Amino acid sequence: FFDFSKAFSDPALARSLVQAIERECAEPLTFMEVCGTHTVAIFRSGIHSILPETVVHLSGPGCPVCVTHEQEVELFLQIAARPDAIVATFGDLMRVPGMQGQSLKTAQAEGARVEVVYAPFDALDLARANPDKQVVFLGVGFETTAPAIAATMQMAKAQGLGNFLVLSMHKLVPPALKALLDDDSARVDAFMLPGHVSLVLGLAPYQFIARDYGIPAVVAGFEPLDILAALLTLARQRNAIRQGAAAEIINDYPRAVSEHGNPKARAVMDEVFTVVDARWRGLGVIPQSGLAIAEAYADQDAMRVLGLTMPEPRTLPGCKCGDVLKGKIRPDQCPLFKKACTPANPVGPCMVSTEGSCAAYYKYHAEV
Ligand code: SF4
Repeated sequence: FFDFSKAFSDPALARSLVQAIERECAEPLTFMEVCGTHTVAIFRSGIHSILPETVVHLSGPGCPVCVTHEQEVELFLQIAARPDAIVATFGDLMRVPGMQGQSLKTAQAEGARVEVVYAPFDALDLARANPDKQVVFLGVGFETTAPAIAATMQMAKAQGLGNFLVLSMHKLVPPALKALLDDDSARVDAFMLPGHVSLVLGLAPYQFIARDYGIPAVVAGFEPLDILAALLTLARQRNAIRQGAAAEIINDYPRAVSEHGNPKARAVMDEVFTVVDARWRGLGVIPQSGLAIAEAYADQDAMRVLGLTMPEPRTLPGCKCGDVLKGKIRPDQCPLFKKACTPANPVGPCMVSTEGSCAAYYKYHAEV
């Protein structure tokens, strides 16, 4: 029996990878990961504390809950307040505070029908069991979750389920990377690309990072050795670029990610959604970075069916999630970190989600 989990966390191999990274990083290397699972894996495995001092880890906009804008949270609360609606959501959205400190959890405590589901398909059962209500699934996430939600909408259409609606607040990773690179304050030398999202996208949508910005990027898996190996690849790439080589997008997770991704998943998404501009927490409006529901599925679009309008954008006072997501500050540089803002009493979404940078930093960082 070959134990994969142990094979990808072998301490001797990890040590030799860290030594190799150290040798390659005589010059500082600032890398950003854009995946909540990477954020947690880096902190939980202790990688964060054993990296050479020359390697700086930034945690970018990779946690779906964290990048959900304040105005979108307000919209969730508006739907929850409707007597004709049942909100179906993944559990990690429950505690994200709105502008006045309310959340789906507090709305539920006050009598709103808010149901936690583990898969979008579960919301179909909810719709079938409650024909007198509009069941609204909150579609939040990246290219990883969007195909499953699109497939659920196809299924609802095929079954003629008239009371299943989706509020699509999905976001797309490559346009956010471009926005980060276009931000004058960006100080990223290399990107660690998300394994799950890349499984759907493949490598092509990332090529602009190397071609237009001369920045290397590597698709990485989630085990400790995956992450260290990816870091070594980035360090070597960076040194090769200094010697005149061209930057590359490299797949260091070939056991899961193929060069062309998953065309079937993309086809399902393309049928159900249409690409639109979207507002990201901390990053503002990013062109062509969101997914709205396509005309052919208008009768499942919560915005249209319920006649909703997006509330005015406002910023949660005091919370620096935006700066954390851009890599401008570390979580512990937010004045509220570990004081007014803790996992038990989160002020912002980066502390709510288990994949949020602030929550991971609070839970796993050695100095906390
Ligand atoms: Fe926001 Fe809390 Fe993180 Fe500060 S510590 S950025 S308030 S989530």
